[in-house]
Amino acid sequence: MLAITPWSNGTPDFAVTSTARILVCAVERRCSICGTRMGKGPVWRVVAAEEAATIAGVLNVGDAYANSEHTVEPPGHHACMLYAAMVCPYLARPTGRRGNDVSLPSAAFHRGEAHGSVDGLTGAVTAFDTYEFTVVEAVHFRFTGLRAFLPYALGDEHLAALRESIDAQPAAESCPEWLLTNEDAAEQRAERYA
Ligand SMILES: [Zn+2]
Repeated sequence: MLAITPWSNGTPDFAVTSTARILVCAVERRCSICGTRMGKGPVWRVVAAEEAATIAGVLNVGDAYANSEHTVEPPGHHACMLYAAMVCPYLARPTGRRGNDVSLPSAAFHRGEAHGSVDGLTGAVTAFDTYEFTVVEAVHFRFTGLRAFLPYALGDEHLAALRESIDAQPAAESCPEWLLTNEDAAEQRAERYA
């Protein structure tokens, strides 16, 4: 269950993500996957093949990666993003196709389209120092200060890192009620921030 998945009549709609929920997470610095707080450290997100290859190229020549493009993909915890890279069929494998069970949103990903790979990379789990966001029609994020770059050909490569990250996490707090199954609560929370 994702914090940014909207609910109606007791049923989650995995095919879409909720702009209201994404806004709430952005303002409250909450993880888009589990809905709990991200704390002060860097924030994590999974980048697709093309961006992973671009970052790899920049780092190879010793330059700093500056991400000037915005993205609609919200950030989350280290462990949560490693988990997403492993279990989301679309993110985990180059042959993965986007279906109704997709777990991360992106304007660049179209349902039914194969994810593919670039320079042998399917994606990367990345960390950035900070994020900014603006609300256009969706919530647009801009990430700055690349801190970590964990590329992969298959999401499973990060299993050991995921285990370590889970062990290192502080005791779990629970997801707030406005990011659970009550869509009205999520919408009302977002209205305060819009
Ligand atoms: Zn999380």
